[in-house]
Amino acid sequence: MSRQKTISKKNIPKNVLWTLEQLHNNGYEGFIVGGCVRDLIMKKNPHDWDITTNATPEQIIAIFEQTDRRVVYENNFGTVGIINKELEKDTPDYAIEITPYRSEGHYSDKRRPDTVSFSTHISEDLKRRDFTMNALAYDPFSETLIDKYEGIHDIENGVIRTVGNPDERFSEDALRMMRAVRFSAQLGFICETETLSSLRKNIPLMKHVSPERIRDEFLKLIDADYAVDGILLMQKITMLSLIVPELEEGINCDQGGAHIYDVFEHNLKSFEHAVNKSYSLHVKLAALFHDIGKPRSRRKANGRGTKEWTFYGHEVIGANMSRDIMKRLKFPKELSDKVEKLVRYHMFFSDPDAITLSAVRRMVANVGEEMIWDLMDLRTCDRIGTGRPKEKPYRLRKYHAMIEEVLRDPISVGMLKINGDIMIGEMGMKPGKRMGWILHALLEEVLEDPTKNTREYLEPRVRAFDELSDTELQELGEQAKHQKDILEQEEVKKLHRKHKV
Ligand code: ATP
Ligand code: MG
Repeated sequence: MSRQKTISKKNIPKNVLWTLEQLHNNGYEGFIVGGCVRDLIMKKNPHDWDITTNATPEQIIAIFEQTDRRVVYENNFGTVGIINKELEKDTPDYAIEITPYRSEGHYSDKRRPDTVSFSTHISEDLKRRDFTMNALAYDPFSETLIDKYEGIHDIENGVIRTVGNPDERFSEDALRMMRAVRFSAQLGFICETETLSSLRKNIPLMKHVSPERIRDEFLKLIDADYAVDGILLMQKITMLSLIVPELEEGINCDQGGAHIYDVFEHNLKSFEHAVNKSYSLHVKLAALFHDIGKPRSRRKANGRGTKEWTFYGHEVIGANMSRDIMKRLKFPKELSDKVEKLVRYHMFFSDPDAITLSAVRRMVANVGEEMIWDLMDLRTCDRIGTGRPKEKPYRLRKYHAMIEEVLRDPISVGMLKINGDIMIGEMGMKPGKRMGWILHALLEEVLEDPTKNTREYLEPRVRAFDELSDTELQELGEQAKHQKDILEQEEVKKLHRKHKV
């Protein structure tokens, strides 16, 4: 079947076209195949390019070794990587993978085929691919689109459907179930009925899949546009109870008080805000996990105050649970450290009337300067996830201003391009009070005109001030210091005005 006009050649990088041409010029077939064809049809930019051919690995290697490309062969499925060193490493066509047409034998371990054999016909190769939308091949030179399984039709209808019988395909490789959910989260597609009921039925097979493969799919799902629907789908088909059962502890775990949602829904709504705001992966994960410790810490409030339940220490329990989940799923350490920290400290105290600068300083020290704004974003997610519409209420704005106050460099003589060491060591001055007065006098000049903050300007000024008597210099120095304190207070006031607090 062919629909020549669906894909435009100009959307295919020159490097990919060149690679196909080498195969063709040597008498072989060559098609772009799989995800990149799907993306082209959907008018998205493919992030990697796969080619399939009737040449064997040895024949592919022989062709490309004659060119200036680097040839990499280390894959027992016959894939040959062709690297174009002239391109930046992160361009999608820097490394193009060429795989010979392949048919797969029996799968006895639910993960990989027992035997792989090369085939002479493209249709054999498309048959082994997971979903109809991924079983498309295109040759831009003859404008031939091969769509044996109505993949285009399914893409147009936003449907995920296995190639062939879903029970068979999922039991061959159980990771395909997770791929189905991940694609639905990325593309906003729904699973076709038979595929969906097969998913529900075959989830237990996922225990044969390695945590690393699950992790890769799970992280792609978290970072996807329709990630919330993805988590809900996981829950619906019982996949969540296999991968992150801790999240399900929040289902029907009422919180009382101002909370209208149970813990599960609250975590999910907070996550939704993080997705909508395109926050970093670690903030999204922290939003999803932030209250995961609530069910295990929930206690009856016993009539104290107006609260029905208490959740003391849920952030500590939740941080530990998050760490265990991420360890189990083999998350990179850097990522899981960040998520754990955010979950641990999401409960910071922010009563605008009682908060002190030193409490804010401690919080910055806890999560680190580089994550303090992530923590604030998480706090907003938490708030929105409770169903309160205003993103930045007074108390968060006040906190925001206080963080900026803690982070900004104070106005001080430390800003000067000259200091006591230079004055003593290089200019031969004596240590003592006079030096402090001189530095303050210099600071006042520099605050007045920052371009004066150079060694060339300041050194002669030091010498000039040094001519003055103790009394004159003291008066000048103390006046300047007073002036600096006023300015410093002004700066802080400006910060508060900026945040309307
Ligand atoms: P992505 O956008 O994540 O790259 P993709 O569809 O390109 O999505 P890849 O993992 O790059 O996914 O795989 C390329 C192609 O290989 C797929 O489109 C599909 O045809 C085939 N494929 C990948 N993994 C499987 C699998 N587990 N079972 C069957 N076919 C697979
Ligand atoms: Mg791909």
